[in-house]
Amino acid sequence: MHDRRSPAPGRVFFVGAGPGAPDLLTIRAVEILRAADVIVHDALVPVRMLDGINPHARRVPIDRAGDPRPDPGAATGHLLARLAVEGGTVVRLKGGDPAVFGRLAEELEPVRRAGVAVELVPGVTAALAAAAAAGVPLTSRVEASSVTLLTGREADGKEAAVDFRGLAALQGTLVVYMGVEQVARWSRELVAAGRSPDTPVTIVSRCSWPDEQLGATTLGHCAADVERHGWRSPAVVIVGAAAVPAGPLAGRLVLVTRPSGQEGEIVSSIRAAGGRALHVPLVSIEDPPSWQPLDDAIRAASTYDWIVLASANGVRGFLGRLAALRLDGRALGTARLAAIGPATRRHLEEAGYRCDLTPSVSRAEELAAELAATVHGGRFLLIRADRGREELRLGLEARGHHVDEVVAYETRPREALDPHDAEAVVRLPVDWIVLTSPSIATSAVRLFGDRMRAWKIATISPVTTAALEGHGLTPTVEAARATTDGIVEAIIRHEAAAAVLPPPAGSPGTAHLPPSLHG
Ligand code: SAH
Repeated sequence: MHDRRSPAPGRVFFVGAGPGAPDLLTIRAVEILRAADVIVHDALVPVRMLDGINPHARRVPIDRAGDPRPDPGAATGHLLARLAVEGGTVVRLKGGDPAVFGRLAEELEPVRRAGVAVELVPGVTAALAAAAAAGVPLTSRVEASSVTLLTGREADGKEAAVDFRGLAALQGTLVVYMGVEQVARWSRELVAAGRSPDTPVTIVSRCSWPDEQLGATTLGHCAADVERHGWRSPAVVIVGAAAVPAGPLAGRLVLVTRPSGQEGEIVSSIRAAGGRALHVPLVSIEDPPSWQPLDDAIRAASTYDWIVLASANGVRGFLGRLAALRLDGRALGTARLAAIGPATRRHLEEAGYRCDLTPSVSRAEELAAELAATVHGGRFLLIRADRGREELRLGLEARGHHVDEVVAYETRPREALDPHDAEAVVRLPVDWIVLTSPSIATSAVRLFGDRMRAWKIATISPVTTAALEGHGLTPTVEAARATTDGIVEAIIRHEAAAAVLPPPAGSPGTAHLPPSLHG
């Protein structure tokens, strides 16, 4: 990227940010954002996306709406040229793709004229993100051999720039950007030009944002439906292609409460089943107050028969200290490695270690029994969290083994919800909350209070269920297997049963709740 030794001028990168979710950025976009000195962005880009990528770059927001200048595109172009001439890496971050309805030509011109080097980085444009979110194929061999991207908003006083007659004649899919503001006008024009009022229409509002909404209607009814449902901008409207049936969690919003950085797996399983996930971490993973006990244990690792890892975070802490002590797998000597469950095992294996034992059922009691059978009077090192259960140690000691326990991380409950998260939880229609540990269950009750009674609750294991029941709440489902996939399976099974059976009296649901708790 920009070579800091070279004098000015810098470069300008026009980078597509995709529709808003950070995981829809390209790898190239993330690389360039990391190297940026200045990021010039518009309102379509959620700035939170930048916090995790480059919190240090100077941010210059541009508010297009209400800009009184005759050509705000050119004004932005002059700003970019000036910033680049000052030197450094200047990123013009644009929602979706920079070349689609982004006034790219107007912004590029002054930059090129100033002799500044330019690179364009494509992004996932709203039409493609929306089609994916709604499960709509934009082309099909039978019905649609073309896709047209058009704007639904005509500049004030401008003659109609869109040739509706020509579009209506094309037997292809139309994707209308800036689709909701003037929906009554353009949908009327299309019908007048000969497109059937029964043509299927899919509306995707705020695609990939936490408050994404999908709507299905027809060309004849879409204007009324936009008004009735209040589908908000930014939104794209897909005309002429219908959604294929979505997954078993379609329309469901699941609150994921795992610590930051550990939500990825369950969020993808929820999305794969057609649902949406809202991530609100309720505990954080912190270093223990001192590494001394773990470091001492690692130096003595080869004196143990077994080193037992009670969680994926334990693996991270253990291997992190091994590396910090400038040691590697040889320090373990003949000690064998055991993991409590498949996720912990996978973490070990991904770091290049073989796992010698995972119990057939992911429970401490089971692990203790299986481990105890492998040696007589064995020496065990347990790597664990600061808080947690004693079953594993007790189970091994009861069978005559020596056990040393060391703490590799602390789980710290969040004191309060981040205001942004608190607002989202109140505003969005949460269906399920997922609880993956006893401490998360306790935090959820403390932070969400009575609101929990309006949601269906899924727990990962009997221990987590017990913690929840200790606070007077019962889970709707408990995972049969204590894994994230096990939880999502339990939710899907419940939803499938609820879809065919009327809900039993008194079952969780929102119907009988006081109005204040309705999403
Ligand atoms: N360059 C952008 C488009 C900018 S024009 C792109 O490639 O996507 C602004 C329009 O884009 C909005 O009115 C809306 O129609 C669409 N749009 C942008 N982000 C969107 C999102 N997250 N969800 C739905 N529509 C979006």
